[in-house]
Amino acid sequence: MAPPGGLQDLMHRVRRAHPAGVLARRDLARMERATPAGLRRYQERRLRLLVRLAAARSPFYRRWFAQSGVAPSSIRTLDDMQVLPIVTRDDLLAAPRDLATYPVRVMWESHSSGTSGKAITVYRTPGSSVYEQAALQRQWSWFGLGRDARRFVMRGSDFAADAGSPVLHLPGDHQLLVSSYRLSPDTVPGIVDAIREFGPDAAEGYPSSIALLASYLRDMGEKLPLKAIITSSEVMTPRQVEVMQSVFDAPIVDHYGQTERVVLAGNCEEGGFHEFSDYGIVERHPIVERPGRYELVATSLHNLGFPLLRYRTGDEVGEAAPGPCPCGRAFPLLGTVDGRVEDSFHTADGRELPLPSIVVDDLTNVAEVQVAQLAPGRFELRAVPADGFDAERLRAYFARTVERHFGPGQEVTMRTFDGRIPRPSSGKLRPSVVEGRAAPDGPAGGTAP
Ligand SMILES: [Zn+2]
Repeated sequence: MAPPGGLQDLMHRVRRAHPAGVLARRDLARMERATPAGLRRYQERRLRLLVRLAAARSPFYRRWFAQSGVAPSSIRTLDDMQVLPIVTRDDLLAAPRDLATYPVRVMWESHSSGTSGKAITVYRTPGSSVYEQAALQRQWSWFGLGRDARRFVMRGSDFAADAGSPVLHLPGDHQLLVSSYRLSPDTVPGIVDAIREFGPDAAEGYPSSIALLASYLRDMGEKLPLKAIITSSEVMTPRQVEVMQSVFDAPIVDHYGQTERVVLAGNCEEGGFHEFSDYGIVERHPIVERPGRYELVATSLHNLGFPLLRYRTGDEVGEAAPGPCPCGRAFPLLGTVDGRVEDSFHTADGRELPLPSIVVDDLTNVAEVQVAQLAPGRFELRAVPADGFDAERLRAYFARTVERHFGPGQEVTMRTFDGRIPRPSSGKLRPSVVEGRAAPDGPAGGTAP
């Protein structure tokens, strides 16, 4: 296990020192002012580079080009790329390393069960991570936030279990980590003191976590003015937006991305939700059963070590707002993304636990996975075994992860399924579900089953 904040700290230092940062920022600044034709030229140039690399070095694409008879050099434009196969989560589940063009040891590995409940493995290069951070910082700049903006950060990090404290200052990193899973009437006053002493420009993280903290602050009659509230990963409810804005008195800077890192999108200062066309090529595929809904299929333009061309994200959007956006940027508008929607869990003693699927996000060797709250403090892991599945190891890992995130004293069980985990009538497997009797109404509300 890495030391508190260790991996994040290391990744931050690599990004900061990486020579690609200067080039990335220059490209990003240029593309922000580009015309639609200029953006397209940039996309097609990156596409040609990626296709050449994939065809030469990735076993998956080498096989496809050999079998299909398509010449890699014939794929030069956005129209040409329509002959490429659509890559699915199943391809990543089966043999993720087959897609890599670099040795996987020089890349960062990550896992996600996403909204489909299938745990996949992907890799990314440090250079693409540098680019992504710079792309996010470009979005911050639209709201007057500098690259070194001081943020208190609320995500799924389990540092609090190691640090023994619900806050952790990352040295030299302009970040104060705040545990999303240690908030209670007893801890919040101390946490707020630490945040004030840190002097943040912005809050950053999961909206459910930031909103939970905000609701405690509001109950205490406190305000904490910031320049921005940087959010991602979840669909926000109007109530969460309202409580965050009333306490922090700042605009929401929201972005959408995925572990596979093929699409990056975010809102501008005029409220338009834009795809960042210089980050990836986005295709919207109509969903036949649901008119007006589209599935995002996208091509990452910067992760050269792990090319995902025409990757099916499983994420849906509605119709985009009619453009152009008053901000004047050529980045197309994207409809709202149906991201993760999760109920909060509760511990036996009534603490609210936002975004509970965090405890199953990093599981491998399972084809499907879900965590269910059977009652406050009682959690069940549901899994469909895949290659390399080890029930005892998984059970022990789940128990450990629940204790780290949710605190000691929770009751955990595990159930395995053949084939698939039962779906609700909507057909969509949710990564977390609340079952049994309704959870008590927490301070942020929104806990109805
Ligand atoms: Zn705009």
